[in-house]
Amino acid sequence: MIGVAILGSTGSIGRSALRVLERHPDRFRIVALAAHSRGEELVAQARAHGVRLAVLANGGPVPDAPGVRVRTGPEALLEAAAHPDADVVLNAVVGAAGLEATLAALGAGKRLALANKESLVAGGELVQAALRAGGGQLVPVDSEHSAILQCLAGSGARTADVRRVVLTASGGPFRAWSAERLDGAEPRDALKHPTWDMGAKITVDSATLANKALEVIEAHYLYGLDYDAIEAVVHPQSIIHSFVELVDGSVLAQLGFPDMELPILYALSHPERVADSGTRRFDPVAAGPLTFEAVDRERFPAFALGEAAGRAGGTAPAVYNAANEVAVAAFLAGRLTFTGVAEVIRATLDMHDPRAADTLESVLEADGWARGTAADALEKQC
Ligand code: NAD
Ligand code: MG
Repeated sequence: MIGVAILGSTGSIGRSALRVLERHPDRFRIVALAAHSRGEELVAQARAHGVRLAVLANGGPVPDAPGVRVRTGPEALLEAAAHPDADVVLNAVVGAAGLEATLAALGAGKRLALANKESLVAGGELVQAALRAGGGQLVPVDSEHSAILQCLAGSGARTADVRRVVLTASGGPFRAWSAERLDGAEPRDALKHPTWDMGAKITVDSATLANKALEVIEAHYLYGLDYDAIEAVVHPQSIIHSFVELVDGSVLAQLGFPDMELPILYALSHPERVADSGTRRFDPVAAGPLTFEAVDRERFPAFALGEAAGRAGGTAPAVYNAANEVAVAAFLAGRLTFTGVAEVIRATLDMHDPRAADTLESVLEADGWARGTAADALEKQC
């Protein structure tokens, strides 16, 4: 039996993971669940899945639950991440708030199934160091990075055989919107994702294409690829989840209907294949024509800003990520326009002088500085 801890169990990925695990009670046992708020839902999940430990990171009120030990506060989240009975930790927390849990899981030598890409973006070097020191494993949940891993595992190619990866992007709900129209885009427009059903923050990131920039940086740290070897292409059908081009010119791809349950299951079971991921079987005729377009960096400047932050390295990706988190929250709250999101990120990065990001203190300091600076930039935008 593989012991699994799920951090962020009340979210989109967390709930999908519970559905995946429900289908395989003979293989997996859930040992801990954690979330930020909504104690009632968390405890109901724990009871429904026979989980003995439930952690509410914000410390809010939690109803009594027989058979469930409830712990609260951010420290308890780290304990769940290093739970002695957890072989695999699924980090499905949203935002850089997941960084310390990522480090705690890897420090304890766990297999980390990582959905929380922001932790890798903000603290890439720290995550790599924790992985080396703890001797665990880092397996991506993000569909594009899972696709790359599956291409590599399936072909037996090593990362040294990779010439380039091409991450696919749906293009989001505004793919066909003019620059003028984008100015008036509302949160409800941004939340209508054409192909994926996800939490609000990543859905807005998909609309600005900041998500794809975060994924470029994620690929850099996961696979040790130079930024020149990581590209993105718009593929509106979201059928091909990414391409890997090998040094001999061969191009591999992994495909299927968009569904996070498969990459979640693969992250838990890699390199094994488990029958029944719950994923709809592929039908090429139903999938229809597959099309590709270049990323439009003019209309979606958050993408280019993220790529540049990745290349700048050091604390720049942490600053990009934190400014984006502040701007997205303001956009969702109706305090910032859609195009203002990229402007707030740009203003914050413009004021930043990247430093080394090799200690947790330096990353947290850059993250905090960026949040304050982005909040100031926000005032000027309004
Ligand atoms: P979501 O908003 O639906 O859920 C987030 C979860 O994290 C919730 O359970 C929430 O309670 C918890 N959380 C938030 N802040 C926390 C904190 N400080 N401490 C502990 N828990 C906290 O988000 P989501 O869409 O499930 O995305 C989760 C992560 O997975 C993100 O990093 C996202 O980029 C990534 N991801 C999501 C998808 C998807 O299909 N939803 C796909 C690829 C990657
Ligand atoms: Mg993705």
